[in-house]
Amino acid sequence: MQEILDAIQSGASADDIANLPLPDSYRAAHVLKAEQDMWKGTPSKEKDPRQSIHVGEVPTPELAPDEVYLAVMASSINFNTVWTSIFEPISTFGALSRLARESSWAQRHDLPYHVVGSDASGVVLRVGSAVRNWKPGDRVTVHCNHVDDQDPTAHNDSMMAANQRIWGYETNFGGLADLAVVKANSLMPKPEHLTWEEAAVNALCNSTSYRMLVSKNGAAMKQGDVVLIWGATGGIGAYATQYVLNGGGIPVCVVSSPDKAQILRNMGVEHIIDRAAADYHFFDENGVHDETEWRRLGKDIRNLCGEDPDIVFEHPGRSTFGASMYVVKRGGTVVTCAATSGFMMEFDNRHFWMRLKRLVGSHFANYKEAWEANRLIQKGMIHPVMSQVFALEQTGEAAYQVHHNMHEGKIGVLCLAPEEGLGVTNPELRAKVGDKLHAFRR
Ligand code: NAP
Repeated sequence: MQEILDAIQSGASADDIANLPLPDSYRAAHVLKAEQDMWKGTPSKEKDPRQSIHVGEVPTPELAPDEVYLAVMASSINFNTVWTSIFEPISTFGALSRLARESSWAQRHDLPYHVVGSDASGVVLRVGSAVRNWKPGDRVTVHCNHVDDQDPTAHNDSMMAANQRIWGYETNFGGLADLAVVKANSLMPKPEHLTWEEAAVNALCNSTSYRMLVSKNGAAMKQGDVVLIWGATGGIGAYATQYVLNGGGIPVCVVSSPDKAQILRNMGVEHIIDRAAADYHFFDENGVHDETEWRRLGKDIRNLCGEDPDIVFEHPGRSTFGASMYVVKRGGTVVTCAATSGFMMEFDNRHFWMRLKRLVGSHFANYKEAWEANRLIQKGMIHPVMSQVFALEQTGEAAYQVHHNMHEGKIGVLCLAPEEGLGVTNPELRAKVGDKLHAFRR
């Protein structure tokens, strides 16, 4: 891989890059099928990604006609890598073997190891024979929607495709590695004013938040909407906060520490709830919902901004869902993409139907939505929310920190990039965007 890195660093031509020899194996963060039952019966928080994520050489797979080999300069930790590493709610090896049943090319994915990672920035090394829009040497980021374009169900909104998958989670050969295999219809131009690691942290969370809030497939936020954002400095919440501020909405941001609240104030957020200080107990000691606590949250929101939320940006799941469904305005929308604290959720349907509320399920983003979200990053209108950068060898530690909510925003991971700060080709835009690039940096 050193020869590939040297060529990229020296600005080699597309032809030179296309002629570089590819290695037989490459360094990758992966989990092992042989270890998928290692924690049966262990509570989630005791399952340690530092034990299950290994970094080592894996063989280079063949390239299908609609794919590219990507030299991965940087990647990021997403919560889905935490899920894979603790084998919850299910082991991802099941997804790999289901994928393998679809075609002879798909069979490559069913291996005793799973190379994880659903974000990447890097350089295209080779393109398959059916790839039209990309060529060796292109500097790209990757969105993680893995779509079979021969499936008719993929041709209205590709997130509705019957066999839609998330690259690096439900497929093999993901981005936490020096090399990745990526479908050509997952590529997007790398924002020129960003470093490799800044460019790598956005696509998954930024696109998810774009669909949830901006897209007509989500809550389709309009100017003046009050939006309650749980985990407002977390991966998806930090992009959601930017979308509400940019779109003329009124964010009411929930976080769990004064430091996180300060990040939000620096971003221009006025209405902030520290849920640790507020000490909400949405369940009583018997695990039964306590409506008086839902009402207390609602009152806190009204005290801050004078109204109930038009939209709730929901993802913690079990611990907050009942409250979210209660506090959203009559006719308002709860949009949800996750259930970090538990996926069996309860709410009081009387408040839901009598107040004509809406619940929208949302999952990642289609190519168009991901492209639009990337375009806003390219234009310097939405910014990366990277707080820390780890080396690929430290992937387990980085995932551990996300698992235990010890981070803010996104954690970047250096793959081939030998150090931070490389890859910027538009320093003018970078200077114009200025400190906003560092709002989350520790
Ligand atoms: P993250 O970086 O860990 O942020 C989550 C935030 O949620 C934390 O910063 C925390 O903020 C808050 N939180 C955690 N537990 C909570 C609880 N019990 N009650 C209230 N707030 C809580 O994770 P992320 O990347 O934003 O992802 C969040 C969830 O969305 C994960 O489950 C992930 O798998 C899912 N996700 C789904 C999709 C999709 O396409 N469906 C895409 C991206 C992410 P405070 O402690 O500051 O309140």
